[in-house]
Amino acid sequence: MARSKSHISNSAIRIFLQDVGKFYDEARGFEPFVPKIAQKDELLDYFNHQCCICGTQIDRKSLSKDHLIPMNKTSLGLHAWGNVVPCCSPCNNEKQQKPWQDFIQLKSDSEAEERIKKLSHSLP
Ligand SMILES: [Zn+2]
Repeated sequence: MARSKSHISNSAIRIFLQDVGKFYDEARGFEPFVPKIAQKDELLDYFNHQCCICGTQIDRKSLSKDHLIPMNKTSLGLHAWGNVVPCCSPCNNEKQQKPWQDFIQLKSDSEAEERIKKLSHSLP
């Protein structure tokens, strides 16, 4: 089946956001994201091995990576440190394009404000 123009332009924008994220990480002295266990561990350590949305304990195996600000032509989230965050699979599946602050409020307990603050601070 032929792909729509909109689908194709969104794919192109995703590639662009991936590249910009890579250059942005390099400019900040960070190693760009690659499939690497050390980077998974770094993400997990920074977030105390918890889903950054609901707080469920996660490990290398259950880790799911989400773009806090979606990487699409509407939101323009970068594939870069600070926007790539560790979460559990249920949160990742459920979040989709929802505004991340609202979603954390919905899924989180009393620590919602704390999580939002920490994530805001790290966003590129
Ligand atoms: Zn979660």
